[in-house]
Amino acid sequence: MRDRSEDGRLAEIAANLERVEARVQAACLSAGRGRAEVTVVVVTKTFPVEDVVRLHELGIRDVGENRDGDAAAKVAAVRSAGLTDLRWHFVGQVQRNKATSVATYADVVHSVDRVRLVSALSRGAVAAGRLVDCLVQVDLRDLPVDDGRGGASPADVLSVAAAIDAAEHLTLGGVMTVAPVSGDPSRAFLRLAEIASQLRTTYGRAAVISAGMSDDLEAAVAAGATHLRVGTALLGSRPALG
Ligand SMILES: *Cc1c(COP(=O)(O)O)cnc(C)c1O
Repeated sequence: MRDRSEDGRLAEIAANLERVEARVQAACLSAGRGRAEVTVVVVTKTFPVEDVVRLHELGIRDVGENRDGDAAAKVAAVRSAGLTDLRWHFVGQVQRNKATSVATYADVVHSVDRVRLVSALSRGAVAAGRLVDCLVQVDLRDLPVDDGRGGASPADVLSVAAAIDAAEHLTLGGVMTVAPVSGDPSRAFLRLAEIASQLRTTYGRAAVISAGMSDDLEAAVAAGATHLRVGTALLGSRPALG
């Protein structure tokens, strides 16, 4: 058994969790929202399986990954360590040839941005005998650029949503966005909230609004986000990807 008091990394993550929790609580308070309305998904990409185990020890049950190769191996390792009550969120761009794989372990896919992806995810979910909740990722930049961050244009959200809703073993959970790199994130988050409420007039249960990361979670909570995707503020900075 690892000695808890000697695990400096556990203490570091616990301190970060306290700081992020204080931020989320303050943001909920000033938005007049209940803390229970907001789920923090801890984005563990590039961090080792041991950190996922530490997060679990600290009470975290929602974790996110963004690359299929890393995620599949990490989920398998965490499960064989006996931790089976985590919800795995896939937050990165899904390549169509990886969609079947993603559907075998992800509980929620935040990044569904085209109809062609839906049939591949559905096939994977059916083959694995699982239900996968899907969010439509929306690109809210003024001038869409193909930089690999993905997202459907606002005009395409309804068609992607309808495809998810009609697909076997997929459920339509709601919407997601990544705020533009520059500019005021609130603008994008408020626009996402508008799109979410339009979607709910047709799909009443699609209530998830996934928005906000380490640097802009307050703006996301203020705009009605139900899920925050937080990496750096909890686990530290990631090595630059080559
Ligand atoms: C990495 C990542 C995050 C977490 O970002 P931080 O700034 O480290 O909190 C959130 N969402 C997506 C889609 C990501 O890829």
